[in-house]
Amino acid sequence: MHDVVIVGAGPAGLTAAIAATTAGASVLVLEGGPKPGRKLLASGGGRCNVTNTLPAAVFMERFGRFGRFMQPALDQFGSHDLREFLGRLGVQTHAPDGFHVFPTDHDARSVLDALVTELARLGGDVRIESPVVDLSVSNGRTVGVVCESGSVPAGSVILACGGCGYPALGGNDSGYRLAAAHGHRLEPEHPGMVALLVREDWPARCIADTVPRAKLSVRRSGKQRISGTGDLIFTRTGLAGPVILDLSREITPILATDGELLLDLELTGRTQAEWLADLDRAREQEPRSTVATWLSTTRKVAPTVGAVFCELVAVDTTWPLERLGRGHRNQLAASLARTQVTVTGHAGWDRAMVMRGGVSLRDVRPETLESRRVEDLYLAGEMLDLDGPCGGFNLQWAFASGHLAGSSAAAG
Ligand SMILES: Cc1cc2nc3c(=O)[nH]c(=O)nc-3n(C[C@H](O)[C@H](O)[C@H](O)COP(=O)(O)OP(=O)(O)OC[C@H]3O[C@@H](n4cnc5c(N)ncnc54)[C@H](O)[C@@H]3O)c2cc1C
Repeated sequence: MHDVVIVGAGPAGLTAAIAATTAGASVLVLEGGPKPGRKLLASGGGRCNVTNTLPAAVFMERFGRFGRFMQPALDQFGSHDLREFLGRLGVQTHAPDGFHVFPTDHDARSVLDALVTELARLGGDVRIESPVVDLSVSNGRTVGVVCESGSVPAGSVILACGGCGYPALGGNDSGYRLAAAHGHRLEPEHPGMVALLVREDWPARCIADTVPRAKLSVRRSGKQRISGTGDLIFTRTGLAGPVILDLSREITPILATDGELLLDLELTGRTQAEWLADLDRAREQEPRSTVATWLSTTRKVAPTVGAVFCELVAVDTTWPLERLGRGHRNQLAASLARTQVTVTGHAGWDRAMVMRGGVSLRDVRPETLESRRVEDLYLAGEMLDLDGPCGGFNLQWAFASGHLAGSSAAAG
């Protein structure tokens, strides 16, 4: 029998296994898929944005209302500790922009190989193709897990099964279903960090351009304002890019209840009055200059986007500026300053990099990550109801929670 059995060989499970073996426990990791760490390998486009340089207090705020749940895990294994730990395993890290932290070779494989090698060196076992289908619980204590091939006894169990985004990389709902089957409450799951679909067809015609520093906000009367600023990418079906990935975790729960929502886009960093003043000045100075030429000289809007905004207010970019009457000038200035799209859906679980929701934090002790429902059961990583924005937040949480769960399970 093993002291600790860990379900899932993602970053949370592998870090838990290293922490538990380091503390002297015998450890077995059961991984349902064909390989460990498949999401870790794909993270950051293969470059693996492992963490960031934010102080813990600000880091936790970015997870929303329940971010402080992470305090004990981050106290033990914050960004600095993670970087030191990876350094000891031979993976140096750096933050080229002062914020996002990557391995210096920008290769997720280095991080995964280092974890797997360290665990083997410490004597921990990883068994692949071993999906866990149930927990063995006796008198309110977990005594092992059940695999398709039979029962595996354990002193304690750590569930580190991740969320259900990207099923092609092992995402599934089995972890929180296992927890729910043993009395844990679940918060509704929604895809996060996912592209959005819109009803309008004009974004498809802006596809060539990324809009830097786009300001987005959700219109909902009487509700808390949801907004964000960052790079926006137009796609064939809607919107993507870092600002959308970040906002999507707030938007998908609204879509689930409201069906659709209106999103304001401020893409040019100028107000309607500023655009109007610029247009009036150009029209006076160079009345024969075309709308297209004027737009390009402003350097405030990419050519395809500018052309689409003209089209939306029935202005032809080949017209000379003198042809624009007051009505057209006002409409064009308004459209360039702010426009709106109707978000009707998202790209689905297949493309969701994180899961919003999961096992309720009310059923887990933050200081050890032990379940309040079943003794000797611990939970770590994305399957808990915590998700952060883009930028190394989710991996940091997976590593930190894995470390805390592993050391607690070994001590318990
Ligand atoms: C494409 C992509 C890019 C990303 N990029 C970043 C990034 O750059 N930075 C960042 O911070 N975050 C990123 N994320 C998010 C991050 O990868 C996850 O939040 C993180 O991997 C979660 O770690 P975890 O160990 O909790 O779960 P996972 O990594 O999902 O690992 C869980 C493991 O458990 C296994 N499992 C599930 N159920 C069972 C079962 N019943 N029995 C046995 N095994 C089971 C799964 O096969 C899987 O291997 C990205 C995610 C994706 C999909």
